Amino acid sequence: MVPRLRPVLAGLPGYVPGRRPSAGQDYARLASNETPFAPLPSVAAAAAAAVGEGHRYPDPQAVLLVEAIAAFHGVEPEQVAVGCGSVALVQQLLAATADQGDEVVYAWRSFEAYPVLTRLAGAAPVEVPLQDEALDLDALAEAVTDRTRLVLLCSPNNPTGPALAADRVRGFLDEVRPDVLVVLDEAYAEFVTDPAAVDGRAFLDRPNVAVLRTFSKAYGLAGLRVGYSLSSPAVTAALRQVQLPFSVSVVAQATAVASLAAQSELATRVLAVTEERARVRAELLSLGFDVPDAQGNFVWLPLRAAALEAAAVFEEHGVLVRPFAGDGVRATIGTPAENDRLLDGARALSLSSAGAGR
Ligand SMILES: *Cc1c(COP(=O)(O)O)cnc(C)c1O
Repeated sequence: MVPRLRPVLAGLPGYVPGRRPSAGQDYARLASNETPFAPLPSVAAAAAAAVGEGHRYPDPQAVLLVEAIAAFHGVEPEQVAVGCGSVALVQQLLAATADQGDEVVYAWRSFEAYPVLTRLAGAAPVEVPLQDEALDLDALAEAVTDRTRLVLLCSPNNPTGPALAADRVRGFLDEVRPDVLVVLDEAYAEFVTDPAAVDGRAFLDRPNVAVLRTFSKAYGLAGLRVGYSLSSPAVTAALRQVQLPFSVSVVAQATAVASLAAQSELATRVLAVTEERARVRAELLSLGFDVPDAQGNFVWLPLRAAALEAAAVFEEHGVLVRPFAGDGVRATIGTPAENDRLLDGARALSLSSAGAGR
């Protein structure tokens, strides 16, 4: 006799993380949208100092970090909630809005955590197909029903790359019932270069909008786990109610504060990534691949049935990418040398059968 578990667990799609190399393997790690840059010296020093406080619980309110984030974005501290990565904020948003059977609308394919966390919350996922590898806001608005409590919009969309246009998001928000919480998951906001792209902060005067940001991507703290939301005080208070106590560690809080203080170094690193992104995408297009607009730190190859086979070709060229069976391959922008390896793989692919679907 095994303990009785919730039936939802048996049907849950597992979160498939990007592949990691085994010890001693020299792979370019382009599978998880991490930055290739190690933490800045100032950030590493803050981490070391925080470890000295490791016998104390972290500040459960993360006051210093919340105030630093609020000051950085020009909002009130009552509008900022922090969490163990912004994926924790997605879970908190679900816990705060969705009861059993309530509907959660999101595009698919999008961030892999959405279906898992939605089902785990007992809510009903409503998945709206992408159009030309981008979110289809008209179809998303049409998918909202009386049962909808939450809409998750990922911009730039992971894994496909395009960002939502600000004017289209405004129209969407005007159309959607104001008691439906609309989340703009902007994990890659710092990499966005399209001036027409949405910046969710422009909509924070609307009580039903929440913006998610993270220190995991551009800031390079994926291993330290800290993300945050910006939202109305009422939504922020609800997010704090449902958070797991002490889930943002002393080291995470301290490194996030130190990272916010290093904006010029951040800008240099982001520029290095976006310049490489332009080079890689242009090269892939010239090889004949169909690469959608890339506004994050990754490019998307919609290879459909050839996705897994293509990932194996990249691996032969020393590159770990993230395949999604039947849909495509996502490759993170790494160092120039890593990106060169990726392009070598793409050249080989363009000559092989797996590349024929391009
Ligand atoms: C990476 C990512 C996140 C969050 O990652 P955390 O490490 O949990 O902060 C959230 N949304 C999207 C779309 C992402 O790609």
